[in-house]
Amino acid sequence: MTLQIDLSAIAANYRALAAKSPGARASAVVKADAYGLGAEQVARRLAAEGARDFFVALDREVAAVRAGAGPEAQIFVLSGHMAGADLGSAIPVLNNPEQYFRDRAMRPGRPFGIQLDSGMNRLGFEPAEWAALKDEILAQGPVLVMSHLACADEPDHPMNAQQLAVFQQMTQGVTAPRSLAATGGILLGPDYHFDLTRPGIGLYGGRPFDAAQPVVRLSLPVIQTREVEAGETIGYSNTYTAPRRMRVSTVAAGYADGIHRRLSSDGDRPRIDLLADGQACPVVGRVSMDLITADVSALQTVPEALDLICPAQGIDAVADVIGTIGYEVLTALGQRYRRHYI
Ligand SMILES: *Cc1c(COP(=O)(O)O)cnc(C)c1O
Repeated sequence: MTLQIDLSAIAANYRALAAKSPGARASAVVKADAYGLGAEQVARRLAAEGARDFFVALDREVAAVRAGAGPEAQIFVLSGHMAGADLGSAIPVLNNPEQYFRDRAMRPGRPFGIQLDSGMNRLGFEPAEWAALKDEILAQGPVLVMSHLACADEPDHPMNAQQLAVFQQMTQGVTAPRSLAATGGILLGPDYHFDLTRPGIGLYGGRPFDAAQPVVRLSLPVIQTREVEAGETIGYSNTYTAPRRMRVSTVAAGYADGIHRRLSSDGDRPRIDLLADGQACPVVGRVSMDLITADVSALQTVPEALDLICPAQGIDAVADVIGTIGYEVLTALGQRYRRHYI
């Protein structure tokens, strides 16, 4: 099982997203082990590309990013300063008064950022909390004031303009660098860019950055290939009956590797293909814990491995079949794969 990660495609996506917001500096969001692709390697590549600011979700994600990005990088922790957090050299993005007072008591004089809630109701100071503490906090010199958009992947959604107006109003007179846009926000245009952008999924080749270069190839080794007669069944619960004589390959990966069981065929109707050099091999029968079966009848020769994710079938195509988003497909891919960086 090989997860091939194209670091030069990630770098190209970073450059392309940065070029869409020339007035702002582009950071890199590398939470959840860089969306499952390896925070240290991704951070190292993007630091070489000029990225100076990185975002993680949790304090324990900092070390890998630091190892890759080097001592000069600013590493922001989006969960802020939680009780018992070990922030080290990282910069907490403080989400409420409780975090702010805890941080100032425990890290006086050290850099911090602030997250404002502009309407998503997930993280950040509420407008009233901010109004009460704004002057005191700004006097302490936050290195970043940011908020996050709820609907940026839908350009026409009225929530975008509404959150923009709230953010502008809440940050009136703020001289600290401001940040509002993740990948979707970058694509909404310059009003949303402010001083720092925070792309994540677009770096890794996912929607809504449709111009992204593909980053991931997931190749699953073929263990065995057999002939199946018409009328025979394949896999658990006999869900698939061969309509004709066919050749079936069994590959070494399954739902224990983050390959969702909903990629199983729907009875006799395949939902997804494995690909051999772009040639489709429909998945037939159930996805098992460690095994998947595919109809390779169309192939002249069966290769050593078949691809589930590749340029012809990207993370969003797989996500659509499962009924989820590319983000979840990527982060679900576990640690069992051999990662190969190119
Ligand atoms: C995950 C996240 C991002 C990156 O979002 P993408 O949609 O992956 O570009 C940016 N900012 C915050 C606060 C996030 O949680």
